[in-house]
Amino acid sequence: MKRVLISLAFALTAVASPVLADDNSNWVKPIKPYRVVGNIYYVGSEGLSAWLITSSEGHIVLDGGPSAQGGKLIERNIQSLGFQLADVKVLINTHAHYDHAGGLAQLKADIPTAKVWASRGDEPALEAGHHIGGNSNGPTPFPAVKVDKAFGDGQKLKVGETTLIAHLTPGHSIGCTSWTTQVTEKGRPLNVTFSCSLSVAGNQLVGNKEHRNIVADYRQSFAMLRALPTDVMLPSHEEQGDLLAKRQKLLRGDPNAFVDPTELARFVDAQEAKFNQELARQQAANPGAK
Ligand code: ZN
Repeated sequence: MKRVLISLAFALTAVASPVLADDNSNWVKPIKPYRVVGNIYYVGSEGLSAWLITSSEGHIVLDGGPSAQGGKLIERNIQSLGFQLADVKVLINTHAHYDHAGGLAQLKADIPTAKVWASRGDEPALEAGHHIGGNSNGPTPFPAVKVDKAFGDGQKLKVGETTLIAHLTPGHSIGCTSWTTQVTEKGRPLNVTFSCSLSVAGNQLVGNKEHRNIVADYRQSFAMLRALPTDVMLPSHEEQGDLLAKRQKLLRGDPNAFVDPTELARFVDAQEAKFNQELARQQAANPGAK
């Protein structure tokens, strides 16, 4: 009987595993926050990115972690770097998935002066509190958050001397947004891109009724990201950019640990190859579907 129970438990785990396909044990594991380049600081967990972009007139936080707990972790990181939560003016998001948007409601509740800005494509998902668009993992709910300003491609976000520009790179989510900014590190100007995810991650590429142009969206986003001049690529997941290894290099004194002008193109190439494989697999599994 015990054996039966064990194998039943194993089977249940196996069934549940697509939802938790990523190794997410490090998503709320604390890590010491650090300055990356210029006025950009890492304030996320070991596995999930969150970024603080500072200015003399207030700060911007990009991404909120996976949950209220993840939001609190970001708040502690901001404070331990010596910044005030009350100086955060704007909360932005790479995409409306639970692992990057789940802590935004907590951040907004704790920082009443902070406004939430989101792309028009992701606004409905943030306000509904779940992924929108056919996905084999289901809607993956998270705490909903009210959007104060919805924007389109090319939107500028200015706080003090800091300017971020939104580049819509849909596909992974309907309103997936990559952000760019320029920083100066030891007198050297650097182009920084906060890249949105490009993985398929359970998305229905064939017959997706809620995101009909999903394949064209991905293709346009591959091209869009390749065209962004980027010295420093800062992704939303640790493993998309070997952030822990770069941090170690940085702490050992390498000022160029995060500088790699070819990294974004290589990242896009790898993601596109995986996308094409998955598209072919889904097309073969759904002959005749559009
Ligand atoms: Zn995602």
